[in-house]
Amino acid sequence: MPETIRAAVMTAPRAALEIRAFPAPRPAPGGAVLQTLLSEVCGTDVHLHHGRLAGVPYPIIPGHVSCGRVLETGGSLNDVEGRPITTGQLVTFYDVFGTCGACWHCLVARAATRCPHRRVYGITTSARDGVLGGWAERIEILPGVRLLPLPDGVDPLAFMGGGCGLGTGLHAVERAQVALGDTVVVQGSGPVGLNAAVFAALSGAASVLVIGAPAPRLAVAREMDVDETLDLADAPAPADRVVWVRARTAGRGADAVIEATGNPQAVPEGLEMLRDAGRYVIVGQYTDAGDATINPHRHVNRRHATVLGCWGYEFTHFHRAIALLARHDRRLGWRRLVSRQYPLDRAGEALAAMAALEVVKAVFRP
Ligand SMILES: [Zn+2]
Ligand SMILES: [Zn+2]
Repeated sequence: MPETIRAAVMTAPRAALEIRAFPAPRPAPGGAVLQTLLSEVCGTDVHLHHGRLAGVPYPIIPGHVSCGRVLETGGSLNDVEGRPITTGQLVTFYDVFGTCGACWHCLVARAATRCPHRRVYGITTSARDGVLGGWAERIEILPGVRLLPLPDGVDPLAFMGGGCGLGTGLHAVERAQVALGDTVVVQGSGPVGLNAAVFAALSGAASVLVIGAPAPRLAVAREMDVDETLDLADAPAPADRVVWVRARTAGRGADAVIEATGNPQAVPEGLEMLRDAGRYVIVGQYTDAGDATINPHRHVNRRHATVLGCWGYEFTHFHRAIALLARHDRRLGWRRLVSRQYPLDRAGEALAAMAALEVVKAVFRP
């Protein structure tokens, strides 16, 4: 065993990423150590680098969703089915931990993603506390973190193509209560939007429409069960995009609209695309990008709209999304979301490509 491993460290917002050596992690009782196979670069990492998230304990090792092989465990561990976790097994893990199961949010509101004790690998974990992020040659799995074996036959690159968008996208579709025969509009063609679109189609939507940019992301959408896409470049005026949706819904608007853009102005626009008594889910406003003005009478009250937020995802969403990936990847090919693979020492380049939307998703192969 080497004494040290390498990890990419985000020392502060806007600072160049550094490759640093860390003591090779050892598992605590009930924990494990993974040999990292792949870890994702996603929009959240760009936000982290731009300092757009509050309370991030820089320096951090980014990388929340990752997969790897079990190198060592601290005693016997089981997966959620009660099957033993074995050395060498290909696993991922639910990146959220510390959710207490004892507070008001957990027990009374049953809103575990709002538990104040909740922590996330690669986001709220400091590099001072260990190798708790995926942009590293090894990852320390703390006791209580849920390991999840990748089902047989699942291509690790396909899994990473879904990445954190798997759980988030499934959660958003669940919130939207997509029903058989629905028309669903997804605003945004990043990984969350693409996964939401795929899960809307798998939920039995008769038509899934994606509005986004740039063109290569929309091409991926059309290869993955999305019926039609609209490029923002071809319809720069919001009113034209509303007309486009209404033209495809007998003038009524969509049964459900899922916002996955990060742009506050998408919200009033998306509400205009919604039919009377439709469901609108906001999942793309992960950072505070500012305010938007809606007309409460026209957009919500008279429309009899249901407007829902969607924060993070729970283990159930991640687990079920991976089961769907295992079932449908042969046909849908989540692998196509991975535009580029990088070694760790090109972390800055990977982040820049993500920020410039040059890639749908990038991954590290440490
Ligand atoms: Zn709690
Ligand atoms: Zn992510």
